[in-house]
Amino acid sequence: MLTRREFIRTTALFALVPHAFAHRRAEIWVNDVHSQLNRTRVRELLLPRTGDELVEIVRSASRKTLPISVSGCRHSMGGQQFAQDSICIDTRSLNRVTSFDRERGLIEAEAGTQWPELIRSYLNTQGDSAKQWGIAQKQTGADTFTLGGSLSSNVHGRGLTMKPLISNIDGFTLIDAEGKRIRCRRDENQELFRIAIGGYGLFGLIERVTLQLVPRQKLRRVVEIIRAQDLAKRFEERIADNFLYGDFQFSIDEKSADFLRIGVFSCYQPFASDEPVEAEKKLRNDDWLDLLRLAYTDRGKAFARYASYYLSTNGQTYWSDTNQLSAYLPDYARKLRAQIGGEESSLVITEIYVPRPALAEFLTQAAELLRSNGTLVIYGTVRLTEKDNESFLPWAKESYACVIFNLLTLHTSAGIEASAKSFRGLIDLAIARGGSYYLTYHRFARREQVAACYPQFRKFLDLKSKYDPAGRFQSDWYRYYRQLFAG
Ligand SMILES: Cc1cc2nc3c(=O)[nH]c(=O)nc-3n(C[C@H](O)[C@H](O)[C@H](O)COP(=O)(O)OP(=O)(O)OC[C@H]3O[C@@H](n4cnc5c(N)ncnc54)[C@H](O)[C@@H]3O)c2cc1C
Repeated sequence: MLTRREFIRTTALFALVPHAFAHRRAEIWVNDVHSQLNRTRVRELLLPRTGDELVEIVRSASRKTLPISVSGCRHSMGGQQFAQDSICIDTRSLNRVTSFDRERGLIEAEAGTQWPELIRSYLNTQGDSAKQWGIAQKQTGADTFTLGGSLSSNVHGRGLTMKPLISNIDGFTLIDAEGKRIRCRRDENQELFRIAIGGYGLFGLIERVTLQLVPRQKLRRVVEIIRAQDLAKRFEERIADNFLYGDFQFSIDEKSADFLRIGVFSCYQPFASDEPVEAEKKLRNDDWLDLLRLAYTDRGKAFARYASYYLSTNGQTYWSDTNQLSAYLPDYARKLRAQIGGEESSLVITEIYVPRPALAEFLTQAAELLRSNGTLVIYGTVRLTEKDNESFLPWAKESYACVIFNLLTLHTSAGIEASAKSFRGLIDLAIARGGSYYLTYHRFARREQVAACYPQFRKFLDLKSKYDPAGRFQSDWYRYYRQLFAG
């Protein structure tokens, strides 16, 4: 039940922003999708439909001195998108594509737009015209990510020679802590441009994003099974042969000597011809669930089945943008538990960066660490990033190899601590080699690990105070780090 004061406050806001209210109940709980480990009680959950409503929410919260948190599709796993007792904005109804300059390949969309909506929109507009634009990159492993969430984490895909997403951003509009609209580009409000991208929602609400598209291309997939010790060299060879995308999906069978040492190496090379693209074989959601179930119960079999499926797709052709779409089941954890029983669990991800020459040795030591900790890897890949020389808090401090681990995590304090221990161990292995890790997936790193990987973290918090002195935009992630770096 709402108290009388809460009722008055809620109805007052409702009068200002009538569409914005999804829920007007006393207890509102939100959670992240993939790990389900960030259950948070928020004061209100608002679903604005226009930029003007976003402005009004900020002004109203400011008058009432209430904190705001902002979420997209809720895939972050460190509490970046929620703050306890805040007004939580769900941006997913802000999903219009607002302009498309077909001469220059610039597309503008509202920040709650998800990749499939964006791709559908420009494909419909372009029809079968000769000159076709497409996105350069998006995340792999799922599609339901908003543009706002993607910018705020400065994400990347599996491009072989790409920098993080900031390199594909022409500009965006931000609503600041006073409710003012600010245009951010490389030559206009540059500091905000550099810090809001990868700034985890702490510097204002991104309202609209202008993305630079690239020419859409036809690609041929080339698949082989290779050893991790040859991987860095094989990536170089593929790049020299003009392949555009690629990754290495490694063996997850901890009982085998090949654990993290062999993998499916799939790369995509452009071809110019009038041939139609043909990708007859494709993994659907049910196939993914089957593979996941096997990975939970028999990782040797899971990798063998996955490798044989991928090899059977060697030579298939794809479009460079739609090829980046992938199957994902948001309720995979519940479905698997219904099939195989056991305690409540989910997958927690980490992404570790290592200099490319150190990759094979890192994987050998990572295998030892995970085995000795008894940690189960359900899925993992290696891809590449180029150095990000633009954002304020870059995770791609160098041209790294990126190693992604999905760890099976039991939802007990011992289970969570076991995964956290392995993540910290992996981060130490990366730091010892001049590497780093991604902030989006958890907040298990120790303070000295954060400081080693992100030496400018304290300055990042100082800039937060400069742009948002009243602390209007908050998250549990921010509150945790503010405390960790206090004093
Ligand atoms: C299965 C899976 C696969 C993934 N694969 C990749 C990958 O391949 N590459 C990669 O880089 N990352 C990957 N990620 C991480 C993911 O890209 C990021 O966590 C991304 O931010 C999630 O987008 P979202 O829409 O879910 O945003 P949310 O998780 O809801 O929010 C993310 C951050 O953005 C902020 N935010 C959201 N909207 C706005 C806005 N309008 N204005 C200001 N701030 C805003 C939030 O406050 C929060 O700090 C993956 C995650 C999962 C679960």
